[in-house]
Amino acid sequence: MRPADTIAAIATAPGRAGIGVVRVSGPAVSAVAAAILGRTLQPRVATLCDFIDTESRILDSGIAIFYSAPRSYTGEDVLELQGHGGLAVMQLVLRRCLELGARPARPGEFTQRAFLNDKLDLAQAESVADLIDASSEAAARSAMRSLAGEFSERVAKLNRALVELRSLVEATLDFPEEEINFLERSGAQQKLEHLRDDVRVLLAEAEQGKILRDGAKVVLMGQPNVGKSSLMNRLTGEEVAIVTEIPGTTRDPLRYELAIEGVPVHVIDTAGLRVATDAVEKIGIERAWREIQQADLALLVVDATAVTSEAHVQIPAEVPSDLKKIIVFNKIDLLEPAPPSDSKPRSGDIVWVSAKTGKGMNSLRAAILSSIGWKPTHEGPFSARERHLQALRETEISLNRALNVLGTLELMAEELRLAQQAIGTISGKFSADDLLGEIFSRFCIGK
Ligand code: GDP
Repeated sequence: MRPADTIAAIATAPGRAGIGVVRVSGPAVSAVAAAILGRTLQPRVATLCDFIDTESRILDSGIAIFYSAPRSYTGEDVLELQGHGGLAVMQLVLRRCLELGARPARPGEFTQRAFLNDKLDLAQAESVADLIDASSEAAARSAMRSLAGEFSERVAKLNRALVELRSLVEATLDFPEEEINFLERSGAQQKLEHLRDDVRVLLAEAEQGKILRDGAKVVLMGQPNVGKSSLMNRLTGEEVAIVTEIPGTTRDPLRYELAIEGVPVHVIDTAGLRVATDAVEKIGIERAWREIQQADLALLVVDATAVTSEAHVQIPAEVPSDLKKIIVFNKIDLLEPAPPSDSKPRSGDIVWVSAKTGKGMNSLRAAILSSIGWKPTHEGPFSARERHLQALRETEISLNRALNVLGTLELMAEELRLAQQAIGTISGKFSADDLLGEIFSRFCIGK
């Protein structure tokens, strides 16, 4: 199902830059190239050209590259015009492409076409967006691993094993006299158990990949003057804070973005949540409280010189009771004798630190990471999304059910079919159109 129209977009971020790229994809690309360049291009050769308008006036000059189908990003004919990176000049070039028959591309539409033309599977297409959105180097690396196909290949391998099992069971269904004996001889149960275990292993890895992609939402709370700002400065200062450009976060003073061992940590500072002076701020505060209801972890900061026991730590009523918490006793440099620090936390959810000297910060970082379920690996995971985890969980459930109905071939065949359907949603083999629309609409324009 190859789209018949031609799309165009500015593929580089708006603003001033050395270079800006207009990208065009679709059947009219050759005609667009001939008209805007006044010449034909050899495929895959960077050529210095003038980009001209209807009256042969030069709009810009730069490098033009033509990729002929199917050897292109989208699998269609693609033209890339690399001009000067100014918003006005880029818009002139884009408008010219639109005059020549292209239409403005929707967000993610180039990648969607790549998916529709089998250049990428759905998990890889998603990793393109993840790579662009990655807010830490580790997250970028894991997205790149997914894009290179590491995750997809593991999923494909499970799918192949599943197909093999299904054909075994379906064949047995066709020859009922063979039935159970045949299945026993072919080691169906062991194969099934093995496959279920492999799904579990992949799920555990994908869970790590999801943490690296999405990070954790951490709520920072505590009375005034307990050292919350000092603690944040310590954490961000030492962790090379990466501020993302997600609308609403950078201008919002209630949030910090940092990365601990590459895991993005989104901190919502509740200190500013008490007073609302105007209507807009009120809305912001309400939104923040709603987010807190979905946070992964709360850091309750207390002044260790004033409160010395966990029992005396007051937890604000807005904090959901099932939210994981770490009690951070700060200002331990003022304590005599010094409490245990920088070794392992005494218990998983209590940490003693000094924002002033930095003592105990390693314990705090370790406690944050372990509370959100992060397990550092040597290789580093591939990026994964909640939808992938959900698919793997459903696959596992169906395989477990299949194991429970080993004696009843029809039921087993049905569970294996469901398992394959679930795992197929990861690559996009069995994905509904509205899911595809939802995934690609979150991309940036030009990608
Ligand atoms: P916040 O109101 O909770 O954000 O607290 P601040 O970070 O503004 O700190 C309040 C005061 O406590 C400041 O004077 C800080 O210098 C001091 N402070 C913060 N952390 C420490 C610490 O670990 N040790 C000591 N001695 N003072 C600290």
